[in-house]
Amino acid sequence: MIPFSKPYIPKKSFAYISEVFSSGRLAGDHAYTKKCTQFLKDNLKVEGLLLTTSCTHALEMTALLLEIQPGDEVICPSFTFSSTANAFALRGARLIFTDIEPTTMNITAALIEAAITPRTKAVCIVHYAGVSCDMKQIVEVTKSHGVMLIEDMAQAIGSTYEGKPLGTFGQLSCLSFHETKNITCGEGGALIINDSSYGFRSEIIREKGTNRAQFFRGEVDKYSWHDIGSSYLPSDLNAAFLYSQLEELQFIQNSRMTRWRQYLGNLIFLRDAGKIELPNPPSFGTHNAHIFFIKLRDIDQRTHFMKFMNEHEVKTAFHYVPLHSSNAGQKFGSFVGNDRFTTKESERLLRLPLFSELTENECQKVCELIEKYFGNQ
Ligand SMILES: *Cc1c(COP(=O)(O)O)cnc(C)c1O
Repeated sequence: MIPFSKPYIPKKSFAYISEVFSSGRLAGDHAYTKKCTQFLKDNLKVEGLLLTTSCTHALEMTALLLEIQPGDEVICPSFTFSSTANAFALRGARLIFTDIEPTTMNITAALIEAAITPRTKAVCIVHYAGVSCDMKQIVEVTKSHGVMLIEDMAQAIGSTYEGKPLGTFGQLSCLSFHETKNITCGEGGALIINDSSYGFRSEIIREKGTNRAQFFRGEVDKYSWHDIGSSYLPSDLNAAFLYSQLEELQFIQNSRMTRWRQYLGNLIFLRDAGKIELPNPPSFGTHNAHIFFIKLRDIDQRTHFMKFMNEHEVKTAFHYVPLHSSNAGQKFGSFVGNDRFTTKESERLLRLPLFSELTENECQKVCELIEKYFGNQ
């Protein structure tokens, strides 16, 4: 069976985790948390970054930092994971779901502008499949309307827009190290703080509302409760595993990109024959080969095709049920404008197996099966 996704376990991870056991310092913000933080700051060219327990939690920290409250509106695409919206719903915001642009499945500046009202507090964009949104236009629109820009870059580590790393455009940006992402530590994430005025409170919110981070640095001689917050810092055990992954970032990204290109090269004739659609990332950025999707005719063909692949021992996966059609989405938000693409395109999209240890032969097998399937269609 070729799995859809498989986490890479670097050899060094065992030694690093043992080191944490020996040190006896298993809580957060010890040696490996510091190493990961520095690595990510250098790699993403950002000044402020905190490791978190997940991207979901980094998004929740964002909602707390922005002081989101009932009556506020937050704009995000309907085609995203629940966490993008849930973080703001938790603080009482109303979610305003927009449509997407069908090639990238990303939100656009025009869709954002049409959704802005005097109650709009923030826009949370998603770089789907690690492919950048059109940042120049989006930064302009959010700036001119005075609304905060948040990047849900759960899928986008290492991707760029016009040479700049993603995560550097929003006031705050959120990364994921979940098992299914390019770089993982099982469960984990990071909050990027590009607006330094959020620096102090972000440390407090992450440490149960206390100024323990200041105390650790020796800046104060005791710490106490300062503000509301939660426990958003990962164990150094998780950070030790994460560091072993970060050291192999180039290997992981390059291997994924090699397979991504293999899929594209092998399947392009099916696209040219009008049988399927393939990703076509815009030239204004570079992506990180997080997802390789194909688009089929409709949901019925997709179901049929998935079954065929499964019978031939290849796991494929569709993606989000649009949030505006979910139970919670209907309770906490509403769709603005016409659903021209969200429902239709999400029903056609299917993700192929992609992970750093997927072999050339396995990728070839997947492509041959696809060819066989469409030869009979
Ligand atoms: C994976 C993902 C998340 C959630 O990340 P966790 O680290 O699992 O909390 C949020 N948003 C998007 C777009 C994702 O792909």
